[in-house]
Amino acid sequence: RSTRAAEAVERLTRWHDDFPTPGVRFADLTPVFADAVGFHAVIDHLGDVAADADLVAGVDARGFLLGAGVAAVRGTGVVAVRKAGKLPPPVLSREYTLEYGSAALEIPADGIDLAGRRVLLLDDVLATGGTLAAAAELFASAGAQVVAAAVVLELSFLNGRARQGDYPLTSIVRR
Ligand code: AMP
Repeated sequence: RSTRAAEAVERLTRWHDDFPTPGVRFADLTPVFADAVGFHAVIDHLGDVAADADLVAGVDARGFLLGAGVAAVRGTGVVAVRKAGKLPPPVLSREYTLEYGSAALEIPADGIDLAGRRVLLLDDVLATGGTLAAAAELFASAGAQVVAAAVVLELSFLNGRARQGDYPLTSIVRR
């Protein structure tokens, strides 16, 4: 199962140099998700992570695909962690730095009872790690606990793993 997911990622990822800015080698997973076998293998793999999580969260925007897929398989709800400005107030907000620039992530500050929830946090690519760390901080500030984070592809030379909290981080493929 994990082999099938990794094989699809290895075979189907579109790599592009100097996108969106010079010096960045961009990994586009669109063909992985568009492939029936690849997408299901990825969802199955991530669906096995952190059986004790009772809520799934996906980071804007490709993490939404993973979050929805994994939540549907597991029978949990899903939280879309949004880029700044997409959600009406009140929101919880965290700024973070990217491999290419800086931004902020937000979740609603009310309407979801996050206290004591056990969150599985998902995104497509781990690069410098700032995005996942900011998302985890958002849930912590709401009284939830990120029990695990998982990505499809980890760019290990950027050492994003070092920026994570004390939750385990799973990646299907490391490059
Ligand atoms: P970071 O905060 O540096 O770990 O960046 C992770 C976020 O930015 C993820 O949501 C990725 O989708 C995106 N990202 C950053 N760098 C890359 C890259 N080289 N290839 C693909 N996506 C990337």
